[in-house]
Amino acid sequence: MTKKLYQKDVYQKEHTSIILEVIGDGSQENPWILVLDETIFFPTGGGQPCDLGTISEIPVLEVTEKEGIVYHRLGSTDTTPSSILEFKTGDKVFCQLDWERRFAHMQRHCGEHILSGIFFRELGGVNRGFHMGADYMTIDIDVPGITKEQAEQIETITNEVIWSNVPVTTRYFEDRSEAERLPLRKALAIDEDISIVCVGDENNPADCVACCGTHPSTSGQVGLVKIFKLENYKGMTRVYFNAGKGAFSDYQKKHRILSELNSKYSADDKDLLEKIKAQDEKNKEVRQELYQLKNSVITKAADEILDSFGVPETKAAVVNKKSSGTSSSSSEASTSLIHTSDCLIIREYPYLNVNDLLAISKLLAAELKTGILAAMISTRENLVILASSGGHDCGKLVKDNAPVWNGKGGGNAGGARAMFSSREDLECFVTFIRQAYQSRK
Ligand SMILES: [Zn+2]
Repeated sequence: MTKKLYQKDVYQKEHTSIILEVIGDGSQENPWILVLDETIFFPTGGGQPCDLGTISEIPVLEVTEKEGIVYHRLGSTDTTPSSILEFKTGDKVFCQLDWERRFAHMQRHCGEHILSGIFFRELGGVNRGFHMGADYMTIDIDVPGITKEQAEQIETITNEVIWSNVPVTTRYFEDRSEAERLPLRKALAIDEDISIVCVGDENNPADCVACCGTHPSTSGQVGLVKIFKLENYKGMTRVYFNAGKGAFSDYQKKHRILSELNSKYSADDKDLLEKIKAQDEKNKEVRQELYQLKNSVITKAADEILDSFGVPETKAAVVNKKSSGTSSSSSEASTSLIHTSDCLIIREYPYLNVNDLLAISKLLAAELKTGILAAMISTRENLVILASSGGHDCGKLVKDNAPVWNGKGGGNAGGARAMFSSREDLECFVTFIRQAYQSRK
């Protein structure tokens, strides 16, 4: 059995231990694992991550426990000072804790005790699961649908326990009979070597439960507990929260975000939400306007193509014309006419995207005369949409020729798209189509 010094003095940061066993040779494949006579390193357990630090200046990467023996896995020889070439049984080694990490764990772990204890006292909810992650912790309280208001109240009481700075004590019992006399939050799961942690007076504790983790000596050292989120989980409520320095850092981070938002919206904490809501409304109106404008541009672009071949205007354009009284034959769609031949029409739309061009081709689909191929180019996205109502196989045209200029895409006989990585490649493909169709005339 390894003697666990953190059980006696949780604030001991350094110690000289004696090696009882050396496993591994320090290579990357076979790193050193040391068993010591006594250790200040807390091994992973009870939901609390292990301590880190150094042993003889070599980083400790992992600390685990099996059957009362604590194993310290060290970094490889790459991190070993040249003065240390090997470890031997009986050697004395100087151990140092990464205290910042340990203290943060103590704060978080004890914060979890108090919060769970208050959930139990106020709602009768038992903590059935605990997870300590890097950015937050969770507890699963076996009461479904805990409300925000209830959680807020419990959070306040929890922090009041912290501010009252009551003692946090750990008592060890050889068997359960005496331990069970304490007002335990949870039934004991073990029969011997029981450690009971109590926050506050044993007769009316904020929490009293069996635990093997590390805790500060007073509740005030926890500093702060903050709940972030509640979630329904398997008929229970999962509570996301943080404690200690982690909760404080989170507050600093969120305050920075809030300050940035206030400055962006020229607001303060009081009217920020109102200003965001007003901006959302404005955005909604702009989106609606954009949608209508695009529809009008798309309809007119389709009509302009059809008009150039003397095809009747589209049904969409008729509707549009009736309602707005504007002409459907003008080309307001930011187009520049590149080419129209007997069987080929090419249009370039600098401001439209692939979905807009597909919408134009949809309007063309039923109206294009047989034998006509329409090529619509989005210079913004380096792509071409081809449309034909027969006489050309758009899909084959793209498949056979786009790859010549590093293009990709595909489609069917009636419509296809070709995408290019550069404007130059796109233009080569369009030039090819133009030449191929000119030669047909
Ligand atoms: Zn604990």
